Parts: sequence; C-alpha cells; structure tokens
Amino acid sequence: MSGEPLVVLTSVNKHFGSLHVLRDIDLTIHKGEVVVILGPSGSGKSTLCRAINRLEPIGSGTITIDGVPLPEEGRALANLRADVGMVFQSFNLFAHKTVLENITLGPTKVRKVPAAQARTRAMELLERVGVANQADKYPAQLSGGQQQRVAIARALAMDPKVILFDEPTSALDPEMVNEVLDVMVTLARGGMTMVVVTHEMGFARKAADRVVFMADGQIVEENTPAEFFTNPTTTRAQDFLSKIL
Ligand code: ADP
Ligand code: MG
Repeated sequence: MSGEPLVVLTSVNKHFGSLHVLRDIDLTIHKGEVVVILGPSGSGKSTLCRAINRLEPIGSGTITIDGVPLPEEGRALANLRADVGMVFQSFNLFAHKTVLENITLGPTKVRKVPAAQARTRAMELLERVGVANQADKYPAQLSGGQQQRVAIARALAMDPKVILFDEPTSALDPEMVNEVLDVMVTLARGGMTMVVVTHEMGFARKAADRVVFMADGQIVEENTPAEFFTNPTTTRAQDFLSKIL
C-alpha cells in the first residue's frame, strides 16, 4: 500500500488498573488501506479501536489522524470522531429513530448538512447497502444483518476518513454474516480506509492488505494475508491459527 499515512499510533500504552492492555503499539494505517486485526479474546483489539477515536484515553504515546493529534475533548474531538467512523458488534442504532433518521442525524447535527440534502444522501447510502426499502422502519423491525448494514451506511454518511469495524458480524445469525461482509468487501475495493477486527478469515483473505496479529496487548506479527495465513512466523500466531482454521 502506497497511500499516505492516515492513522499513526506511536508507542501507545494503556493500562486498566494493573492490566497493561496496550503495550508499545506502533501502527500506521495508510489511506486506502484495509487492515484486519486478529488475535485471541482479551488481546486488546477493541481497546485499540476505541483508542483510535478516543472512546478510551491512552496512558502514553501519540495517535494522529491525518497528521493531527487526537484532541482531548470538546468540539475538536466531535469533529475528529466524525472523521473516524465506527461500526460495533452490537449495531448501536438509535432505537427510537427510524432508519433514515439514524443516518441523517450525524450529518445534520455535526456536519451541518441541510436536512433535504442529508436525506437524499442517506437514501443513496441505504440503496448502496441494500436496505433502501427499510428507510421508514425502526431498527427493531429489521434483521440483524439489515441493522448492521444501516450502521455501515450511518458511518459512511459522515464521509469519514477511516472506518473502524469491531467484530461487525459476531452478533449476527450465521445466515446474515455474508450480506454484511459483502458490503464491507465492496467498500474495501472502493478504496475506503478500514480497520477491521474480525474472526472472519475469508474476509481477511479477500479484502485485507495487511493482517495485524495481537496477543497480550502487543502487535506480535504483521504481514500480508497470504503470508500470514500460510507462513505465520511466531508460535503465538501459529497457535491462534491452528485453533481457528
Ligand atoms: P479484545 O477486543 O481483543 O477481546 P479488549 O480490548 O476488549 O480485548 O480487552 C483487553 C483486556 O482489557 C481484557 O483483559 C479486558 O478484560 C480488559 N478490559 C477491557 N475493557 C476494560 C475496562 N473498561 N476496564 C477494565 N478492563 C478492561
Ligand atoms: Mg473485542
């Protein structure tokens, strides 16, 4: 990947009490790059994602987005969060708002996009993720796969520079996993910068430019998916792969 650096973590450390959850993380994500983060449960993957949009403050080190250090708080942080989309395992749609309202809320409130323009764009995005016919429903009326596709459309509506996906298919019934992964593969091929925590090795093989393998809060190994899956070099990665492949 030859894009410019977009998200740069330098010597990032974080503790939860005595637990050293991120250890000297150095990671650069380039524009247009798709990075899949793998690792056992508890290795710090979610904390890493949450640190990138400052849902979790870090203890030491620096994180920059497009050259700008993460703001501590206030308006600057709200703007930064708008640049860094996030799609969670648990959809996190606003239950009391329609699908369409879920998508227009951020652009109108944070980006100050006029309502009519936000609606037009929202409908285009819903079309793109294949749920335009659900626009006036409430999240609970949709399947999990549909809700997660709405969550992706909602992230896209902010025109983010990068989208972080934290196990976006883990809470889905198996038959709905592919409809969400297909949307993500299309996004990846369209040049979106993506950081994806997932256990879907098929997605990693198909869409990742790079696999980052974490264990115990550290980046233990990183490589192209082809190399990582066929020739993992560390015993940690070999163990991990032997359990899931
Ligand atoms: P992963 O996403 O790789 O499963 P996490 O980043 O969620 O890992 O968690 C890493 C470690 O930090 C785990 O041991 C977890 O129990 C712990 N942890 C996560 N969030 C908190 C928190 N808010 N307070 C205390 N410990 C936490
Ligand atoms: Mg996690």
